[in-house]
Amino acid sequence: MTTEHAKHALPSYLNAEDLGPWGVYLQQIDRVTPHLGSLSRWVETLKRPKRILTVDVPIERDDGTIAHYEGYRVQHNMSRGPGKGGVRFHQDVTLSEVMALSAWMTVKNASVNVPYGGAKGGIRVDPKTLSRGELQRLTRRYTSEISLIIGPNKDIPAPDVNTNEQVMAWMMDSYAMIEGNLSTGVVTGKPISLGGSLGRREATGRGVFVVGREAAAKRGVAIAGARVAVQGFGNVGGVAATMFSDAGSKIIAVQDHTATVVHQGGLDVALLHKFVAETGGVANFPGAEQTLGRDAFWDIESDILIPAALEQQITAANAPRIRTKIILEGANGPTTPEADDILTDKDVLIVPDVLANAGGVTVSYFEWVQDFSSFFWTEDEINARLTRIMQEAFNAVWVVAQDKKVTLRTATFILACTRVLQAREVRGLYP
Ligand code: NAD
Repeated sequence: MTTEHAKHALPSYLNAEDLGPWGVYLQQIDRVTPHLGSLSRWVETLKRPKRILTVDVPIERDDGTIAHYEGYRVQHNMSRGPGKGGVRFHQDVTLSEVMALSAWMTVKNASVNVPYGGAKGGIRVDPKTLSRGELQRLTRRYTSEISLIIGPNKDIPAPDVNTNEQVMAWMMDSYAMIEGNLSTGVVTGKPISLGGSLGRREATGRGVFVVGREAAAKRGVAIAGARVAVQGFGNVGGVAATMFSDAGSKIIAVQDHTATVVHQGGLDVALLHKFVAETGGVANFPGAEQTLGRDAFWDIESDILIPAALEQQITAANAPRIRTKIILEGANGPTTPEADDILTDKDVLIVPDVLANAGGVTVSYFEWVQDFSSFFWTEDEINARLTRIMQEAFNAVWVVAQDKKVTLRTATFILACTRVLQAREVRGLYP
């Protein structure tokens, strides 16, 4: 790590020996820098978050003791608009991780051209260890601590790992209490009854499907009959699987935290959803032809592979075994840079996370716009607008990739970083 990052002037608050996900992000910026032309004089801007707030979040536990949790809100870049990005509650959250996730939000928002910068937040807590009351107190205190820097025109949080509509409702209410006005636009991913948007829940999976359809057309893969393997059957993977299945693809394998289920003729996705809702996982699904071990998932030959579960799933260890034509990154950061190179050499087309899973933030943007005007759109309008934005973003990235002879990931970074740095340049440095 030290040699790799020797060229970076690292801020003193980072440990050069252990940069974590921020180190992966820096490598991605290095790959894009030669393509930025005169804008590369601004590239250091992308290697330092604009603002980092670390907060202590104390709560009274149900047993009367006081517990303290470490929380963060990182605003990576706000050249193009207010910060936007989720809040993650997880015991392993680190500053490096939140920094990287905030930077990927900068790239993601610019890649689909929504008028936001990038931000992210998190608390080092395992929410399963908290009662509902404790979780509510934690959320409210965290919101109050970061209320200094969030707001509908400053930075708009949203759900991420282990946070949901209820957490967003508590965040909105806490902010409203502090500000003395309703402020629905301070967070997105809210319940529909509180200014949430139709179509938000399905938006990320729908976006994965839309870019998948575009990528398949470029690769000459017919969606009808395509063999699709999906890791993760939650909000992203579950919706993407349904949409591919509805379009005539065969969902030949699904892996979740319980098992890998396989049916070469195509799993019945609607039945699988019902089964998972009842049992909590895909294990023992009676409609499967075969159940495989965790690692064997990567040996299943497919036309389209959708990692939609966790970070760092496709690594130098399993990439050589993967036989597929297209990878659609539903999850954030599922492919390590080494695996990325191995798969590119094998001519696998990878649609990167910062493009493929941008459907969620796109409909978050719609939610924020609807909240400002207090005028709500139909689900059809939302889906049509989402589809148009994702198609346009994919095709703009495709043109850059062809023109510069780079991967879709580097092309997405070129397009996005150019937009961010153009805004920076035209605004100029203050003072
Ligand atoms: P989710 O909690 O709804 O679903 C996660 C799925 O992954 C579940 O099916 C779970 O069983 C499975 N899983 C967990 N551990 C696993 C393991 N070890 N092996 C295989 N499968 C495992 O989460 P989600 O909202 O679908 O998010 C999935 C990914 O997509 C995350 O990386 C998230 O950051 C990213 N993402 C989500 C959204 C969104 O709008 N939900 C937007 C952008 C990116």
